[in-house]
Formats: sequence, C-alpha cells, structure tokens
Amino acid sequence: MIDLHSHTDESDGTFTPAELVAEGVRVGLRALSITDHDTFAGYDGAVPYAAAAGLELICGIELSTRYQGASVHLLGYFPLAPPSAELRAWLGWMLEMRRDRNIRLIAKLQSLGLEITLKEVEKIGRTLTGRPHFARVLVEKGYATDVQNAFDLYLDESARGFVQRQEVPMEEALERILASGGVPSLAHPNRVAKNNWEKLAAYVEDLAGLGMRAIEVYHSDHSPENVSYYASLAERFNLGITGGSDFHGANKPLISLGTGKRNNLNVPDALAENLKDLAMRS
Ligand code: AMP
Ligand code: ZN
Ligand code: FE
Ligand code: FE
Repeated sequence: MIDLHSHTDESDGTFTPAELVAEGVRVGLRALSITDHDTFAGYDGAVPYAAAAGLELICGIELSTRYQGASVHLLGYFPLAPPSAELRAWLGWMLEMRRDRNIRLIAKLQSLGLEITLKEVEKIGRTLTGRPHFARVLVEKGYATDVQNAFDLYLDESARGFVQRQEVPMEEALERILASGGVPSLAHPNRVAKNNWEKLAAYVEDLAGLGMRAIEVYHSDHSPENVSYYASLAERFNLGITGGSDFHGANKPLISLGTGKRNNLNVPDALAENLKDLAMRS
C-alpha cells in the first residue's frame, strides 16, 4: 500500500509532518507523498522522520490553478530530486498573493459588520492561512454554526464575503513543474466534469497536449466506475497514473491515510516506482 496524496498542518491538514510519517508507518505504507497546498514546508519537515523510520517519502505539492474559467487542482511530484530554488521562489510569490487576498477578505468581512481580525485567523493558519481557517474563527465567534455554514454564509464563491484570489494559470503551473523536473498530475478529476465522461475525455486530452504527465486515478472520492474510467483515459492519452487518499487528519475525519473512506482505496505499490519513470520522460 502507498499513498501519494496527503496534507500536513503546514497547509490544511491537522497532523504535523512527524505525526503524518508515524501514521504512514502505523498503517504500513511502502511510500508516502506529502502534497500540501502551495508549500514544501510539510515535506521538508518530514524528511528526517521518514529517513529515521525507513519510509520512502516522495516530495509533492498541490496547486490551485485557473483553467477554462474554473479553479482546478494540480498535483506535482518530484521523485528524483528536490524541486528547484526557482520553483520555491515562485511558491513564495503565490503565498504573497494569498496574503493579499486574506487582507481583502478581512476587510470585506469587517464591512459586513463581523468582528474578526487577520491576526486571529493567522494564529491558526500561519503561513498558509486560507478560507478554512477563516471559517473556524467565524464558528468560534458564533457567526456560523459550523465550518460548512461559514462557507455557505460568507466564504463560498457564491457567498457575500467572497473575494477573488489571483490563481496561477494551469499552463504556467505545468511549465514550472516540468521545468523543475517534476511530474504534473491532474488531481481528483471527478471534480472537473462530474458525470460528464465525454467532456472529461476532451478535457484530459487538451491537458495532455499542454504537458500533463499523469492523472489521479485513485482517490477517496472516486467510485470503482470512476477508477476504471480514469484508468482508461490514462491509457488512451498515454498518461501516467497517481493515487492517494487526500488525507487531512481531523479536517476530513472520514478519510484514512492509505485506505481512504471505509477502505475504498488501494493504490498499487508500483505507482511509486512508475513516478520516477514519468519524471525521466522528456
Ligand atoms: P483558499 O485556498 O484559502 O481559497 O481555500 C480553499 C479551501 O477552502 C479548499 O481547499 C477547501 O478545503 C475549502 N473550501 C472551498 N470552498 C468550500 C465550500 N463551499 N465548502 C467547504 N469548504 C470549501
Ligand atoms: Zn487540502
Ligand atoms: Fe485538492
Ligand atoms: Fe488535496
């Protein structure tokens, strides 16, 4: 068993890098990839723990990109060598865009009459403060009944507190990952064109033409039908296959590392080795 999609508390998970490695060992993973949103801090922190435990740790990332007018998640894997300094610098720029959005989001919420400060939100979100952290503070303050309610009332794209964050174009994200020796993989494709399989096929074909190297076939949100269809798309468009639970600890309590939701996940060990071949494809 391996797991190529997980989050630490350096993004929106709740496990520290050390705790995530320990959990990987506990459930018997052969390889683990940490794919935090917009940062390598969780991976960096986990390296010594994984080395000490003898667990294969694969460097990864998950980026929110803009493609055809929608927000699309893109995974990047660096199985051969750590990502370049250029890529890290670019992530720093993305963090600045995020902070800029957070400043505007606080102003917007205050203008709606809510008493909330950026300091309160950043206390729990730290460098990767995002809307889930805003949601938690809104709940603590009694402005929403739970996190979902906070999104519905204020933070969702359709809600009255929403402010846009500048997202990187998919084309640029693909280029940057490839230039840094990485393998870009389309994350959880069922979010892209739900139940519209022909549309998804055209979409994946376009992305393959832009440099996409793989598609996330295995995921906690994928049905067996999804898995077989996405695998057929990978074969059809000569893409590699990745898979993982999208573990977030207590933030997504139904998802277990390695085994997904109610044991619905079983990512073949061979995919970890295949990632290295995909990274060497030129
Ligand atoms: P951010 O990157 O700060 O804009 O936050 C994005 C994160 O917010 C996503 O990864 C989700 O975890 C969460 N999120 C976005 N929209 C919703 C929603 N409508 N309901 C619940 N969670 C959401
Ligand atoms: Zn996440
Ligand atoms: Fe995602
Ligand atoms: Fe994720």
